[in-house]
Parts: sequence; C-alpha cells; structure tokens
Amino acid sequence: MLCDEENLAYAAMPKSYRKRSLLDFQKEFPTDQACAEHLVEQRWALGFNCPACGHDKFWFLEGRGLFDCKACRHQTSMTSGTIFHKTRTSLLKWYWLVYHMAMDKVGVSVAEMQRILEIGSYQTAWLMAHKVRKAMGDRDARYRLAGLVEMDESFFGPKGTTRGRGSENKATVLCAVSLYTDRKGKERPGFARMAVVSDASAATIEDFLEKLGCSAETEEGRQLMEAIRSDRWRSYGRAAKDKQLKHYKVVLREPQDAGNLLPWIHRLISNTKTVIRGSHRGVSNKHLESYLNEICYRFNRRFWERELFDRLIQACVSSAAVTYAELVGRAPTRNDC
Ligand SMILES: [Zn+2]
Repeated sequence: MLCDEENLAYAAMPKSYRKRSLLDFQKEFPTDQACAEHLVEQRWALGFNCPACGHDKFWFLEGRGLFDCKACRHQTSMTSGTIFHKTRTSLLKWYWLVYHMAMDKVGVSVAEMQRILEIGSYQTAWLMAHKVRKAMGDRDARYRLAGLVEMDESFFGPKGTTRGRGSENKATVLCAVSLYTDRKGKERPGFARMAVVSDASAATIEDFLEKLGCSAETEEGRQLMEAIRSDRWRSYGRAAKDKQLKHYKVVLREPQDAGNLLPWIHRLISNTKTVIRGSHRGVSNKHLESYLNEICYRFNRRFWERELFDRLIQACVSSAAVTYAELVGRAPTRNDC
C-alpha cells in the first residue's frame, strides 16, 4: 500500500530540513539578519528563480534588499509572494512565533504570543498566527490520502465538542485518517484531514473525499484511496458507492465504542477537542477550519518533530500572502501586517 508521503505533489523538492532543539534555535537565529538568510535559503532552496520569468541569475540590490532579475529586470523581495510580505513585524518575532506554532503540541495562545514576543497589538498577533495556519492548510491541501481511510464527523460549538448528529448551533466537521499496516501487521495512522462542512450528507462527504484526492487520477492512472471505514450513517455508504470505494461499517452501540472500533479517528477528534478547549479557549465557527488545519498539520508531521520548524518556514514561503481583510471580510487597517 502506498504511504501518503509517496504522493506529495512536491516530492521533487530537496529536503533541506534541519533538526533543531530550542537551544539550537536560539543560537542560530539571534538577529533579523540570521532569519533573513535562512528565509532566502528556504525560499530558493534550488537557487534563485525569478517569479516573473523563471530566470536564475540576479543582481542583489543591497540598499533595498531586492533581487533584480538579470533577464527581465523584475525586482522581487525575499518576502514577496510569501505570508511575510509587507510585514511591519520583525522577522525575528515571526520566527519565534513560527517556532512555537511548529513545536508546541497543544497549540499556542495568541494572547501569550503577543505578550512574550512584544507584538504591537492582539490583532496583529492574531493575524500573524492565522497566516501561519493558512500556510499549514495550503501545504496539507497538496496531500492525497491513500489506502483505507477511517472517517467520522464531529460537532464543534462554543461549549466544546460532541459526537452525534443533529446538534444545533454547532459546526459540523468531517474527519478522515488514512491507515496503513506496519511490518508487524498493526494498523497505524498515516495522514489526517478535517474540514468544516454544512452537513453530513452523502454529497458533502463526496466533496470532502474529492478534496482528499479521491477522484484524482495519479500518474499511473489509478486511485490511491481504496476503502473507507465509518459507522453505519447511510451517507458514508452512499458516498463510498458513488466513489467506487469499499465500505467497512462498524456498529457503535455505545458512544465509547468509537474508541475501540474507530480508534484513530476517535483519537484525532479527542486530541482536537483538547487543543480547541485548552490553548485556544474555544473558537468561533467562522475560524474553526484554520485551527483544524493547524492541528492536522502537526499530527501529519509527528514523526519529524525536530524538523518541524524548517518544514513550517518552507510552507510559509510557498504560501501566498493573505490580508486581514481577506481573512475577516473587511477593509485592512494600519495594524495589519
Ligand atoms: Zn525575470
């Protein structure tokens, strides 16, 4: 069975991720300059590449910190086209925020980050964290789930999370974890995704399966996902049939059966519940998905813990900038970074 890592769209990229402890991090990034050098290294890991024409030779305009393409004279800064573009916050503070968001297993509190990093306002710190979460989501959107996928839905609301359908004023979240069998024949979780959806209908589940790469053809022309495992909710059966997937149904007689019969998805949901209730003290339905992206991002990279910082910087430099207005649907202000 294919493991998810094998079908990364960016598999051709060089893996130049360094393992770092907190002490390494402190030592290697004492100044903005050190961060800037690392940023350039991560952004152009294969050497400079003009965003306008793809040419690889440039003049560096030191005073303005711009890369001037020798072929088309397009000038680009190291942050343009990344989440750091036009930021008023120092790269050093960004680096510390990214470090914490990469390494803290239970997620970081924005208020805490604003305080310890002395970021101008709560709104600025919130937007910075949101941009990092967007980069995490963009990165994981490139993954496709393979093999057997365990699925379930959960309901998130201001008072926390519940299992079961029909809860009012709560956001419905579809969850999926791909599973693979290790050398000892044990089932292990591979890659997870969660999405806020309008309902748990078959059509919605099919849309979600498509986002997981279900209908996409691979280079070899075959689908990577083979089967889903879920409870007996009829929408899963219908979606599996439409998508030509095998469907394994489990019968949950008591709520606690989910822990035994759908163990991995159950663990992911309960982990998510802990993070949302704990570090983030509840999250509005509107922004819930971006927090889910953050949780999945860390879950999906749990075996590369000490490389997580470099991996996340890599995600941040390849994710386009998003403005505060785009995130919250209003005009940006001076504080937007
Ligand atoms: Zn150019």
